[in-house]
Amino acid sequence: MQFRIGTGFDVHRLADGLPLVLGGVRIPFGKGLEGHSDADVLVHAVIDALLGSLALGDIGIHFPDSDPRYRGINSLVLLKQVWQLVRGKNFHLGNLDSILIAENPKMSPFLDAMRSNLAECLESTKDLISIKATTTEKLRITGRGQGIAAQVVVLLHGTS
Ligand code: MG
Repeated sequence: MQFRIGTGFDVHRLADGLPLVLGGVRIPFGKGLEGHSDADVLVHAVIDALLGSLALGDIGIHFPDSDPRYRGINSLVLLKQVWQLVRGKNFHLGNLDSILIAENPKMSPFLDAMRSNLAECLESTKDLISIKATTTEKLRITGRGQGIAAQVVVLLHGTS
């Protein structure tokens, strides 16, 4: 069996009055992430991990922020497109592990819904998808509440 591993990392800036969408879940917070799409930092890191695992470039190559088609787009739509590339090469998800890095808000009430969204997009099950959350103890960009970061690793296995 063929195995491929990929890693993804992303950061977006927080701003007042924007919707906060993480893992496809709308989180009531009063602030949200800035970006060309819905700025879903977790899903962007998942996309980069998948693309990286198959050496297919990165999210900026596939979905350039100069392209008006992607303005405000739900990042789960982009993830589904990337997943079709993966499936087209006869790979399945082995497992996915991730960390959301943010001082606020509290992520735990929303993690299960995020896992469900990712499982659906990746034609997988929640037991193969882990989403954790941490703060940076008020240090760095995330600790000062200026942004939210996400880090992801995926393992794929090939079926051909
Ligand atoms: Mg991004």
